[in-house]
Amino acid sequence: MTTRSETQTTLDHLLTEIEHRNPAQPEFHQAAHEVLETLAPVVAARPEYAEPGLIERLVEPERQVMFRVPWQDDQGRVRVNRGFRVEFNSALGPYKGGLRFHPSVNLGVIKFLGFEQIFKNALTGLGIGGGKGGSDFDPHGRSDAEVMRFCQSFMTELYRHIGEHTDVPAGDIGVGGREIGYLFGQYRRITNRWEAGVLTGKGQGWGGSLIRPEATGYGNVLFAAAMLRERGEDLEGQTAVVSGSGNVAIYTIEKLTALGANAVTCSDSSGYVVDEKGIDLDLLKQIKEVERGRVDAYAERRGSSARFVPGGRVWEVPADLALPSATQNELDENDAATLIRNGVKAVSEGANMPTTPEAVHLLQQAGVAFGPGKAANAGGVAVSALEMAQNHARTSWTAARVEEELADIMTSIHTTCHETAERYGAPGDYVTGANIAGFERVADAMLAQGVI
Ligand code: NDP
Repeated sequence: MTTRSETQTTLDHLLTEIEHRNPAQPEFHQAAHEVLETLAPVVAARPEYAEPGLIERLVEPERQVMFRVPWQDDQGRVRVNRGFRVEFNSALGPYKGGLRFHPSVNLGVIKFLGFEQIFKNALTGLGIGGGKGGSDFDPHGRSDAEVMRFCQSFMTELYRHIGEHTDVPAGDIGVGGREIGYLFGQYRRITNRWEAGVLTGKGQGWGGSLIRPEATGYGNVLFAAAMLRERGEDLEGQTAVVSGSGNVAIYTIEKLTALGANAVTCSDSSGYVVDEKGIDLDLLKQIKEVERGRVDAYAERRGSSARFVPGGRVWEVPADLALPSATQNELDENDAATLIRNGVKAVSEGANMPTTPEAVHLLQQAGVAFGPGKAANAGGVAVSALEMAQNHARTSWTAARVEEELADIMTSIHTTCHETAERYGAPGDYVTGANIAGFERVADAMLAQGVI
């Protein structure tokens, strides 16, 4: 039997190989390190996982599609963006994962997101594989007509790669209900099929699930509450800092408030707002969801309890809880040190990989409960899978039923991560628990299905 340290040496060699074979993809390297650095205990304990080629297959996407997306802006000028879909692993079900429209998107970013998605989807216990896609298109400042033309051009290539039994995209940064609507319309037009289960996050009334918009934020708050419960505490009366002001941030703030916590911040790429009375969600939704404005408008209209800090980071505001809900690597070592100094008890990731590895290490060393995104933000994809189930049965469930299922799934993910970490000698380490539990489920399916 190989020891843990021999296994770690093998995994370290593989990580070097991954960096070599995938140059200039730092986010993908970071995501691969984060997972492979925690797998030694399970690979050493279960020899079948050391089978040559298993982990090598896991880190290589099954398929990567890159394509040109030409479209015309309102002035008639032709613009050219790049589209991506990385179909990473389908051992557990059709590829499933969102589309991101943001200027920072490149192949490495999509691969990091797709890799994370494999384990996240496995943790939900539902039958979904891992994938991700998007474009370097920036929807900010674009008219509805421009966004529609872009989405139609994007789908004109993407449609041939997706399908309810093949690959089912959803939203992510820059892709919400409006974009999913345009994408779905174009898919329907090209294929001449009403195939509701090809995209999730659809509008209510044409196949969308109730609670899907809320699911990622609500689920993350439920995960944070479960981590606090392990420590004999609850959310009531806790102060929380939340970053971002998009889909995930808004519904994180909504659930925190409903459960008695005081969410005092939100942000966007221009800076952050701190509101000592707690974020007024009606105002934030009006500015962000209806007007598509910036967060400084919130401070202007809210009155004396709120102020806008241009360029700042929410982590400097003292709080019991931190819920990063914007983007990758938005909480670094310095931010973690500040949070710890201010007495933070738990950090739960609504965004994907928002906390740098150094910051995660520091938080865990300081005894802060840390919920990694692949567990804590899995509620979104879980309700997407429930949307697929409703589409398949041509039915729609009540909000109460979906929310109950979401709560059960988040509790089960928390328990799985917690118990798995204990079983492999890392009590309280949700990163190790999530990675190993997700890996076991995918690896078992891959081994059973042969070398493909
Ligand atoms: P949205 O586009 O709705 O909101 C994104 C928010 O983050 C905006 O406030 C945006 O500000 C801010 N932001 C994005 N990029 C940056 C950046 N580079 N620097 C500073 N701020 C930034 O996206 P979502 O809320 O859907 O996604 C947020 C995070 O949650 C992402 O990491 C996503 O992968 C993750 N996630 C989302 C799920 C979902 O269901 N939507 C599911 C699971 C995870 P600005 O407008 O100024 O760019």
